[in-house]
Amino acid sequence: MRIGIPRALLYYIYYPFWKTFFESLGYEVILSKPTNKKILKDGLESTVDDACLPIKVFHGHVIDLIDKVDAVFIPRVISVEPKEFICPKFLGLPDMIKNSIPNLPPIIDCELSAYKNKKGFWEHALAIGRYLGHSKPKIMKAYMRASIEFNYYKKLRINYGILPLDCGEKSFYELASAKSLHNEDHSCKFTVLIVGHPYNIYDNYVSMNLIKKLQNLGVKVITPEIIPEKNILDGAKQLNKRLFWTLSKNVLGSTYYFLKNGNIDGIVHVASFGCGPDSIVGELLERKLSRDYTLPFLRINIDEHSGEEGFNTRLEAFVDVIEGRR
Ligand code: SF4
Repeated sequence: MRIGIPRALLYYIYYPFWKTFFESLGYEVILSKPTNKKILKDGLESTVDDACLPIKVFHGHVIDLIDKVDAVFIPRVISVEPKEFICPKFLGLPDMIKNSIPNLPPIIDCELSAYKNKKGFWEHALAIGRYLGHSKPKIMKAYMRASIEFNYYKKLRINYGILPLDCGEKSFYELASAKSLHNEDHSCKFTVLIVGHPYNIYDNYVSMNLIKKLQNLGVKVITPEIIPEKNILDGAKQLNKRLFWTLSKNVLGSTYYFLKNGNIDGIVHVASFGCGPDSIVGELLERKLSRDYTLPFLRINIDEHSGEEGFNTRLEAFVDVIEGRR
């Protein structure tokens, strides 16, 4: 049996876990193609107008999988951290997909909520395994293997500074021994923190190759995914009020941490048009930076109409400002 995983949204964080889990249960995992013009077009045509761009892109990825798989995995995600939530669009995503796209294969839409504690991940895996008809010991074994792989992946990101983008389809063991990743290149002139939701930053089509373009301009890129969790939490403590949106907490926590520690040359905030949490976070960032700092800051709002030429010019101007400031 082939299980399809859309290459969008939380794929950029949890794919190593999901892939190992399904493969350990004996399934073949099929990924949708990297985002392209057709996927975006299909997503735009099948989604309600007021959805944000990442949700539209996700729809396109599901359509890409329809004829290739026997089931599609679209978890109903409520929370991935204790006492925190993820955007409500993740909660309603399986229903949105079922109502917008015809001729779908069965959808595996088991709920994931770690709001009470991290045991929620095990309960989620157990629900998927049971839905697929497996015994508890077999599910437990697959879960353990997936957790080991996922922890290894996290270590690679944090200890070696390997971006989720660099991991792609390669074996993580292969990556651990690779010493020549661009991010470790000492010829980089500046360090820039890119903050935003992982599905905006690491989807090369959506972000118009933002990371690679900055790297080609001699910039070392840091993102929240390669920052130790304790540093993000330290940064988030500087907020007047505890933020209970996990992805927004990561954006603000990592920015505040680096502002305090002073070892970056600029910040880029990537936001999606139509995203409520992004508009609040962007506003908080801009206010904080204009009040207390003189660090170059670039805010990029992406939507389906974003043009690449203007985008390149803005990036080059941003790097020029950093250089001038030096
Ligand atoms: S957090 Fe924003 S970009 Fe992400 S799914 Fe929710 S509305 Fe869309």
